[in-house]
Amino acid sequence: MTAEPKAPSIESRFASLDAVRDLLARQEDLPQGAIQAIQSLSGELRRATEELSDADTRYRAVVEQIPAIVYTDVVDDTMSTTYVSPQIEDLLGISPEEYIADPDLWAKQLHPDDKEQALQSYLQGRKSGEPFSFEYRLLGKDGRVVWFRDSAVVVNDRSGAPAFVHGVMFDITDRKNAEERVAFLAYHDNLTGLPNRTMFEELLELGMARARRHDLSVAVLCIDVDDFKLVNESLGYEAGDALLRAVAERLREATRETDLVARQGGDEFLLLLADIEGSSAPGFEGTDGALLVIESVAARVHDSLRAPFNVAGTELYVSASIGISMFPHDADDAMALLKNADAAMYQSRKSAPGSYLLHWRQSEEALGKLSLTTRLRKAVENRNWQLHYQPVVELAEGKMVGVEALIRWADPNGGLVPPGDFIPLAEEMGLIEAIGDWVVEELSRQAAAWRAEGLELEVSFNLSPRQLWQPDLTEKILQQLSAANLDPGSIIVEVTESAAMADPERTLRILRDLNNRGLRLALDDFGTGYSSFARLRYMPVDLLKIDRLFIRDVAHDRQAADMVRAIIQLAHGLGMTPLAEGIETEAEWRFLVEQGCRLGQGFYFCRPAPAEDILARYRRSGFSLIESAG
Ligand code: C2E
Ligand code: MG
Ligand code: MG
Repeated sequence: MTAEPKAPSIESRFASLDAVRDLLARQEDLPQGAIQAIQSLSGELRRATEELSDADTRYRAVVEQIPAIVYTDVVDDTMSTTYVSPQIEDLLGISPEEYIADPDLWAKQLHPDDKEQALQSYLQGRKSGEPFSFEYRLLGKDGRVVWFRDSAVVVNDRSGAPAFVHGVMFDITDRKNAEERVAFLAYHDNLTGLPNRTMFEELLELGMARARRHDLSVAVLCIDVDDFKLVNESLGYEAGDALLRAVAERLREATRETDLVARQGGDEFLLLLADIEGSSAPGFEGTDGALLVIESVAARVHDSLRAPFNVAGTELYVSASIGISMFPHDADDAMALLKNADAAMYQSRKSAPGSYLLHWRQSEEALGKLSLTTRLRKAVENRNWQLHYQPVVELAEGKMVGVEALIRWADPNGGLVPPGDFIPLAEEMGLIEAIGDWVVEELSRQAAAWRAEGLELEVSFNLSPRQLWQPDLTEKILQQLSAANLDPGSIIVEVTESAAMADPERTLRILRDLNNRGLRLALDDFGTGYSSFARLRYMPVDLLKIDRLFIRDVAHDRQAADMVRAIIQLAHGLGMTPLAEGIETEAEWRFLVEQGCRLGQGFYFCRPAPAEDILARYRRSGFSLIESAG
């Protein structure tokens, strides 16, 4: 490096080093080596200059031993640097020459989050004439981030005007990282890295405040690993720790980004579900949306723990007991909510380990009522299902040509539960396949029985998306049909429009497969999803079922009437048969006949009914449904 014409005199450098040394002596948290180096520096330099003629070289030799970057800036408009020690190359990968050549480089390398603050501190410090120090991050050439404490003094020229800034930049990255770690630990659990109870409480308060403002619900799940003590005792604490870490991981995977999983301590975890929609009012638990969300999360948590854990070379099976409390109707403050969840968990662990308990229903549970998911699992086990059938009518003549099978859950606790209330949960819980298998088995049996009575009907049934995506779907259906000696051509598979469009490529492949094997297809609830007409053209679908939403208004709403007319034309254009769902009045029926809609269903003709009722009707008036309707 050549000496700059404006370089400060060696005396002024001594002065600045003295100042920097004093400055540093007042700072408590710098690395020891740095302070010592600086403290010995000015004395050494003085001695050196007495012996050496080339004082500048000697100055550098000493300065360049400090584990820090030493620099000298000129006080001018550009913040240009006349000297920077070569340590900059080690710390940031930038050579001194490069740094000096570009007066803006320091500002350019500042971390975006620190830029404004650091620039301001520097300019203010320079103006003040007092020693100053400030902290910031610089980005190295390779993108590395280095934290610096920059301590500087301003040196005046002979006239008393500020001329140079001498500074030392200490690498304090280790200290900053340690600070961050401490801050992290205050809010996190060391073993699992999950948020701790302190953080959970704070976020719970926030969630409750939001819920109050927007009329939402918040749930707290307290999750306790069953028999954890046994693991510790039999396999040792290290294995216990490993298991807790693995459980934490599964819980995190089983929940949404927006849910908060925390470790309460020991073998207890907490889960916060915020922003839940739904009334959650007591008395509506069976059908309530909020409850469905909560119970399905609890079911997911249980599912996530089902696969064995491999800990210390041993396969372990783990279950958990869960207690659940809910804001607003269960408790009004965070502490009470946590306490209630804890109490419910304790109760659940005692009375039914491996399941879950809703705090506000504890008294009912005690009376023997089981939670919705437990009841649903039992229903699958005991096949507590019934099929009701709703006639499909040839509209012009009012003649029954087929029936749609609609499932009901015969809940021992509460009458017949409609499918909308349990199918979504059954899907979440992975029970839908078993239910779907039963439906096909039962309708095959029923169709064969009707046929034996002389009643030949096309039978349709519904498939939800998850069922549609079972790998062996077609095989399973065909097997049931052939066991009952039924022609696949008399069976119609209904898929909702939204299911069909959710993953169109995949669905199309499945629908083609079903169709190639002789089954017929219907697109259900048409008009409520978002169909791509381009895709509709290629769907091997026979029937287009127009959703009740449109039919409901045709008699008194021009727009609805126009829509239905258009959908009927669309169906014809695509070579499909239109079928109107939910016909409730004679006016609706007449309108549809006028528009050339061939098929329909609805309470106007017949409500869904058990198989015996369909047969009784047939015995009374054959295939005609008009008389009974008219
Ligand atoms: P969907 O396939 O569109 O069935 C028609 C629904 O409309 C039935 O409700 C039926 O009872 C009702 N409905 C029929 N005519 C009228 C009417 O004139 N007025 C009114 N207001 N409603 C009418 P349900 O039985 O409650 O079934 C609801 C949905 O549940 C079905 O809609 C279907 O998507 C699904 N579902 C039914 N059974 C099964 C099943 O076995 N498996 C699967 N995955 N889903 C099913
Ligand atoms: Mg249907
Ligand atoms: Mg429908």
